[in-house]
Parts: sequence; C-alpha cells; structure tokens
Amino acid sequence: MDACDKCGNPQIIINRKQSGQMLCQDCFIEFIQEKVLKDIRRQKLIEKGDKVLVALSGGKDSVMLLHILNNLKKRRIIDIVAVTIDEGISGYREHGVSIATQNAEMLGIKHRIVSFKDYIGGTIDEIMKNSSDRNACTYCGVFRRWILNQVAREEGATKIATGHNLDDEAQSIMMNYLEGNIQNLTRIGVRSESSYEGFTVKIKPLREIPEKETALYALACDLPVHLAGCPYAGDSFRAKIGTFLKQISQEHPTIMYSTLRGFDKIKPVLKEEFSQKGSMGVCEECGEPAAGKFCKACSFRKLWK
Ligand code: SF4
Ligand code: ZN
Repeated sequence: MDACDKCGNPQIIINRKQSGQMLCQDCFIEFIQEKVLKDIRRQKLIEKGDKVLVALSGGKDSVMLLHILNNLKKRRIIDIVAVTIDEGISGYREHGVSIATQNAEMLGIKHRIVSFKDYIGGTIDEIMKNSSDRNACTYCGVFRRWILNQVAREEGATKIATGHNLDDEAQSIMMNYLEGNIQNLTRIGVRSESSYEGFTVKIKPLREIPEKETALYALACDLPVHLAGCPYAGDSFRAKIGTFLKQISQEHPTIMYSTLRGFDKIKPVLKEEFSQKGSMGVCEECGEPAAGKFCKACSFRKLWK
C-alpha cells in the first residue's frame, strides 16, 4: 500500500512524479518550507539584516512566500514589508487586496497598498480602453516593476522578493526563446542585479517550486488566498505557453526543471555575448535605469497621456 516516504502515514497528498516521492500533508508542508529556505541559503538570496519587500498580490504564490519568509523574520534574520499593487482591474483586484491585507495582518507584517492610479495616473482598465495595439500584460508588467522599484526605495528595502514559481520561470524562458528576445533572456534568473545604484536586487525564492505544489501548499496550510484569474490573462502569449508546458509535463514530469537547468547553464554565455554592456543610462523623466532616453514605463506613460 502507498504510504508517506518520510513518516509512513498512509494518507498521502502528493506523488511527486519528478522525484518519485510520496508525502503526507505534514511532511509535504515541512518539505516545501525546508526546500525554499535551503534554496535561499544555497543561492545566497537573503543575508542577515536584509529588509525584504515582498510583492504580495494575495495569490497563492505570494501568500506562501510571505508565510515562509516570516520564519526568517520571526528569527530576527530579516525585516519584511509587504506591498500590494492595485492595477485597477475592476471586479478582480479588490478581492486580492483584501486577502493580502488579511495575510499581512495575520502575521503582523507592515503592509502597503499602492495603486497604478497614484503612481502612473491611470488604471489598467483605463489604459486598455484607449489602447488596442498591446495586450494588458505588456503595460501591467512594465508599470508593476517600475512601481516596485519606487516603493523599495521609499521603504529602504535591500531586496524585492516575488512569488514567481517554476512554471512562471519556464514560461518566461520559453516565451523569450520563441520570440527571439535574447536581451530579455539575459535578464531571467533567480536574482536580478544591476550596477545602477538605485536598483534594488530582485529575488525569486519559489523559482524551483512547481505551481501545482504552491497551490497544494496553500491548501494544506489553509492559507487565505485569492484564486480568481485576471480577466486579461487569457489573451496573453504567456497563457498559451503555460498551457503548452502543462500539457507536455503530463508525459514528461521533469520538463520544466530541465528547461530551467538548461537555461541556467547557457545563461553565462548569453550574458557574455548579448547583455547590453555599459549602455544603460538613466531615464530623463524618472531617474530609473533606461536603455535609451526614457525607461520603458515613462515611454508607455507618454503614449497614453
Ligand atoms: Fe496584469 Fe496581465 Fe497579470 Fe492581469 S494577467 S495582473 S493584466 S500582468
Ligand atoms: Zn522613467
């Protein structure tokens, strides 16, 4: 009869096809927490004394990340501030904001809610009403990164932690390969760095946890999470790649890990050959790093004003 590989409990909740492990609920929770904290140590993502800004959408990934990082806060290794960005997507974001607030309050973590309206002067819904040439995610991602950088500086954060999981990262790699965006590929990784002094290092502590397991973790720990999908997500190229990778993983359960491992091996070569060495300047409008006169966020703001 099947039983948990760690404790022998016959009530297993997961059969991890990629590793052959079968785990019960308690052992799965412990395994995930240990794996994330081990990945953080192994990859030196966090140091003692860091002030970590956690991008908390209220979704399963960022909620799980906040709860796991809280272990380091409780041990006084780091300080945490959570930030929720309200993009202004009506009927969707309101619930995420209230779930994020609930989680931050539960853990006693400082929580800021910042909006596209306040930082860029308009909502995603308004932008999409006036724009037909790009999909919502293109604007949303650029503005979100821009706002995160601003908030990190306002808070004096030394790291920005996001809840990107294995599926997200494999999608980013595949999307950029298929579109031939080699410059973008050179920026994908567990940690983003820049020599620009106003730039806060971004880290992805859940990068090696499959989405299926972040969902199961939230369920097993009974965490309050926002499960609804963004109404704009269906349009995106990312969503199509996500579906493709999920399908192929059914027959090849390690495919997303191998996508990641292969990419991490060739990345130093890509960086050597293709990264924009020394060509980054500073945006004339906002002072953020920029390849040209203006950063991407400020170029978009101009189009839409
Ligand atoms: Fe923004 Fe796209 Fe995510 Fe919706 S799916 S929140 S539009 S990036
Ligand atoms: Zn700018």
